[in-house]
Amino acid sequence: MDQIRIENLEVYAAHGVYPKETRQGQLFKVDVTLNMDTGPAGLADDLALSTNYGEVSRLIQRYLWENTFSLIEAAAEHLAREILLSFPRVESLALELKKPQAPVKIPFSNISVRIERGWHQAWLGIGSNMGDRKAYIDQALAALEEKPEIRQVRCSRLITTAPYGGVEQEDFLNGAVGLKTLLSPQELLAFLQELEHRAGRERKIHWGPRTLDLDILFFEGFVSDDPLLTVPHPDMENRGFVLEPLDELCPWLRHPLNGRSVRQMRQELEKRGEGAALRSLTKNASGS
Ligand code: ATP
Ligand code: MG
Ligand code: MG
Repeated sequence: MDQIRIENLEVYAAHGVYPKETRQGQLFKVDVTLNMDTGPAGLADDLALSTNYGEVSRLIQRYLWENTFSLIEAAAEHLAREILLSFPRVESLALELKKPQAPVKIPFSNISVRIERGWHQAWLGIGSNMGDRKAYIDQALAALEEKPEIRQVRCSRLITTAPYGGVEQEDFLNGAVGLKTLLSPQELLAFLQELEHRAGRERKIHWGPRTLDLDILFFEGFVSDDPLLTVPHPDMENRGFVLEPLDELCPWLRHPLNGRSVRQMRQELEKRGEGAALRSLTKNASGS
């Protein structure tokens, strides 16, 4: 991807573990590489289509001056998030925060922390089969949209589906959601569980009735077998209520483990006579 780079930006700030450091402050230097598509700005020769490196530099200066952290790890982490939230064209960045005058009583030329952060594409399954199912789903979508670290939330149509897994219960309303997030997979799962909790979700029976279920189906390049967070979500190739809405959003997305696209998995499931829905119904109220 194209890059805009700022090197050795000098700022005065007061980060450190020792009281003297936070009292007096010292020189810091910042390298930042902004990964974004500069093509449209380049072709049109138009700053409005790019990211203004002057503004980025001033944000870095102001942010590091106005906020004080013990660790340069923390300063780098929060600064990276601030840049990504403030400059929406930046997809990801590498940031090195240097502390050339760090209080170490041995000669050195530099000490720094370097991190890479960015927006990640994730795909979720959303479902409900208790109470006002549509309202639970709409509230969850609104909460996803309100979270600063989440953007470009897009929901499929919602479909009514028969319960899965053998438990006698009401029909489900199911959909799929695409979004971009600055959160890690674990942070995203924690937020989804908070939304389930807010919706009054109780776990009494495995695969039993629920006000709200939010599962991570895919998370960019992330693959994990951890039972606490298995990604891609297991069993999706057998779930029409997952594949049908997902097929509306990202038919060509390829499952990193079985190598098949969402469309292929859906078609194979339907060939086996196990398509999703009782019927496809409701247009999502958020209209997205
Ligand atoms: P299923 O995951 O088979 O659809 P479920 O959604 O009913 O079943 P839950 O009760 O919502 O299951 O979640 C049980 C546990 O699954 C959670 O505590 C969570 O840690 C774990 N889990 C593992 N992988 C994922 C994932 N990709 N998305 C959401 N939860 C997951
Ligand atoms: Mg589930
Ligand atoms: Mg779940």
